[in-house]
Amino acid sequence: MLWLRPHLAQRRAIYTAWKYFWGASVTSFIAQSQAFSSNTSDEVSKAQAAAKKYQNQQTIFSKILDKSIPADILYEDRQCIAFKDVQPQAPVHFLVIPRKPISCLSDADDEDQMLLGHLLLVAKKVAAQLNLGDGFRVVINNGKNGAQSVYHLHLHVLGGRQMTWPPG
Ligand SMILES: [Zn+2]
Repeated sequence: MLWLRPHLAQRRAIYTAWKYFWGASVTSFIAQSQAFSSNTSDEVSKAQAAAKKYQNQQTIFSKILDKSIPADILYEDRQCIAFKDVQPQAPVHFLVIPRKPISCLSDADDEDQMLLGHLLLVAKKVAAQLNLGDGFRVVINNGKNGAQSVYHLHLHVLGGRQMTWPPG
């Protein structure tokens, strides 16, 4: 039975090749699925973090932003809007809010740096338009002890009277 030897050798070669191929493809499949699952869990955890972060995004301000609630809008651009506070605490009292639903200053990220600067510049431009050349105050209430009432980041800009210090 000499023919068995080459046959056996051939079968071994095929088996080795198959094992090599299958082993390699299983390894790469596992690597791919691990990469896939780590990407997926990354995305999921990001989404969950975002959902948690922005769960309060349906605020009165988001309704002002989508124009489902009217407001006395003084200024708007792609990043923010400014509108009069409905309960003014000074002769001039308006708010500047980002379109991005950042719930409070504590939730702002490094990536919000340009946006936060933009809000301050809009505050001063609108203040100038409203003749607050003698000065004004910019306030950000943050969290419970900061007396934040609406969980959508906003700058209060108050003017038209002498402010006192310290604030209450
Ligand atoms: Zn407020």
